Amino acid sequence: MHEDNLSRADLSRDELGLETLAIRAGHLRGAEQEHGEPIYTTSSFVYGSAAEAAAKFGGDEAGNIYSRFTNPTVRFFEERLAAMEGGERCVATSSGMAAIMSTVLALLESGDEIVASRSIFGSSVSLFTKYFGKLGITTRFVELGDLDAWREAITPATKLLFAETPSNPLSEIGDIAALAEIAHEHNAWLAIDNCFCTPALQRPLTLGADIVIHSATKYLDGQGRTLGGAVVGSHALMEEVFGVVRTCGPCLSPFNAWVFLKGLETLNIRMQAHCARALDLAHWLEVHPGVERVHYSGLESHPQHALAKQQQKAFGAVLGVVIKGGREGAWSVVDATRILSITGNLGDVKTTITHPATTTHGRLSDEQKAAAGIEEGMIRIAVGLEDLEDIKRDLARGLDRLVG
Ligand SMILES: *Cc1c(COP(=O)(O)O)cnc(C)c1O
Repeated sequence: MHEDNLSRADLSRDELGLETLAIRAGHLRGAEQEHGEPIYTTSSFVYGSAAEAAAKFGGDEAGNIYSRFTNPTVRFFEERLAAMEGGERCVATSSGMAAIMSTVLALLESGDEIVASRSIFGSSVSLFTKYFGKLGITTRFVELGDLDAWREAITPATKLLFAETPSNPLSEIGDIAALAEIAHEHNAWLAIDNCFCTPALQRPLTLGADIVIHSATKYLDGQGRTLGGAVVGSHALMEEVFGVVRTCGPCLSPFNAWVFLKGLETLNIRMQAHCARALDLAHWLEVHPGVERVHYSGLESHPQHALAKQQQKAFGAVLGVVIKGGREGAWSVVDATRILSITGNLGDVKTTITHPATTTHGRLSDEQKAAAGIEEGMIRIAVGLEDLEDIKRDLARGLDRLVG
């Protein structure tokens, strides 16, 4: 019998490459012998008898019950992503924010503390300070790359270290193995938001992290179609996260899970193509007279280039580019584009351009922006998969005008 489900015990995922797992892991072929992964659009599941229903509800027998917490298409996605990240189990969520919320609700309680890198996603900052703060969970923010600052911020109440690496939009790198060591010395967990790298470039669990968090909305989908998220880690931790998703309800729809399954199948080659274009564009921008500075860990000029090279397979596809002429210069480059999309999203085949100081980071005070390195002249480019020459020409329109 030919088995399709690589997560079964008799087919060890350890022996298979990431590309194979991305395409083959997770799908348990059904009675119809379908080749593609089906979308199970059903809210509930039926039982052969009252005894079977009782056994499944009671947890004595595994099986599908209700799609808030057991849906086959969602499970296919969870098993595939868990295999790719090298984790024991994955819990899918309705968005990346839901993944972070569910993790903290599951593992922390009032009085516990979080230490997080300062440059995390804007909504993550709000979630930590405003909403977790309300529950009595406090967060200290530190520089991603300053290991001493992490150590100093930890107290006996610290339960979770949370980092996003590379950071957005400055492409700062956090040393995952070192952060894991610090976390474990203090009986805390390390969670890494792996949105910018994906398992195609970086696998935090293999470097010692305890939890990987995803906004699947970005590169896992890869074509800007749907919202979703995921948490990956050990059986014990994920059982707690699963409990939150099951009870509180921020679950992933089977349709979105199917979109992500298809996205994962091409993730490796898409990430290679994104990164190759981004590196080429970064080199081109770095020497353009209209550009002051390019923040991209793939450049030799980046202070953490060596760490990025050691920790990641490639450098991601998000560039922070400081344009000459402050806000006026930056806006003129944004407004001169004809192909690039002016939007805050990223992880799409379409290249996007945004002015962080007035959009994604617009809620920060001037001091907070200065501390975060968000200059008025900075634009963020999330490099897509269009013809690179067209992307360059689109940016040159505004840049060339700046230098006369
Ligand atoms: C987008 C994003 C999130 C939030 O994900 P949603 O799917 O939009 O809820 C979290 N972290 C990072 C790094 C992101 O880019």
